[in-house]
Amino acid sequence: MKKILLIATGGTIASKYTEDGLSPQLTAEELLSYVPAARDFCSVDAVQHLSLDSTNVNVSHWLSLAELIEKKYEYYDGFVICHGTDTMAYTAAALSYLIQNNRKPVVITGSQKPIDLAVTDAKTNLLDSLRFASHPHAHSVSIVFGGKVIAGTRAKKEFSKSYNAFSSINYPNIATIHDEKIIFYIDDKEQCTKSLKFYHNMNQRIFLLKLIPGIDGNILDILYDSYDGLILESFGVGGLPNYGDDSFLDALNQWISGGKLVTMATQVTHEGSDMTVYQVGKIIKERFRILESYDMTLEASVTKMMWALGQSKDVAKCRELFYTTINHDLLFI
Ligand code: ASP
Repeated sequence: MKKILLIATGGTIASKYTEDGLSPQLTAEELLSYVPAARDFCSVDAVQHLSLDSTNVNVSHWLSLAELIEKKYEYYDGFVICHGTDTMAYTAAALSYLIQNNRKPVVITGSQKPIDLAVTDAKTNLLDSLRFASHPHAHSVSIVFGGKVIAGTRAKKEFSKSYNAFSSINYPNIATIHDEKIIFYIDDKEQCTKSLKFYHNMNQRIFLLKLIPGIDGNILDILYDSYDGLILESFGVGGLPNYGDDSFLDALNQWISGGKLVTMATQVTHEGSDMTVYQVGKIIKERFRILESYDMTLEASVTKMMWALGQSKDVAKCRELFYTTINHDLLFI
């Protein structure tokens, strides 16, 4: 029987109604008591790591989760993290960068309704997660939610209330789970042959700037001193506006020549960036050493930049890390 460590961090799944609204109250052991059927296929230890609404989860929590898994790694066959859905996609991407070449499953799950309600998605999601984490072909970081198994770098919360909250963006689901059956679409554990590596640093000094029509490029001058990395969330396949004052070009010039990491991403959820298509992108790409997120999700781009800048101060090295495919995050390049 597989040995699984259940790590509780809070979220709706563990929440109860209070006068001030839902807040995490249930312990890891209590969560486990709602899925007695798990005892048929795995043995589970439970640890209460955090008790947070995931709105309050930040880089320090990602690092502490990776550290906990590193400490317990040799004692368990798999890990299931119960987590709030709001920032789950960020945590899944961050853990994908912090725990690489990982032959054991690290499954993140949660729910749209608390587990103690009569009608809830929580029990199914938790049971599915334990089942997936116990499967011999499962590995790496993934989200199990609403019957889907999504690579940790590919998830996005697309619905704020429905049970079907998460989608896999620009990549197929790793597997689906119906009742007790797991159907794999990506079955690649045997290709995971490099040695396991845990990372311990991330650089939080990243700014994500969402462009709106008419935005003044001088905003980048104000941000310059406070950040080491910048993600420009542009329109369509990616470009920079010029409203006749060259403010974006001048600012970009300062950022790139100042040794900062800048990437172009898109506000469009599906299909990613390609700056070579339009003049508004192509001339920028030709003139500056700007990165592109291509088909990576925004959550992956943000956490990957934090991870890359946490490993090196050398821009060339960070560019190389950013363009290395990790846990299925990047195909297009
Ligand atoms: N606000 C909650 C959280 O992210 C939402 C949820 O878990 O579904 O912790």
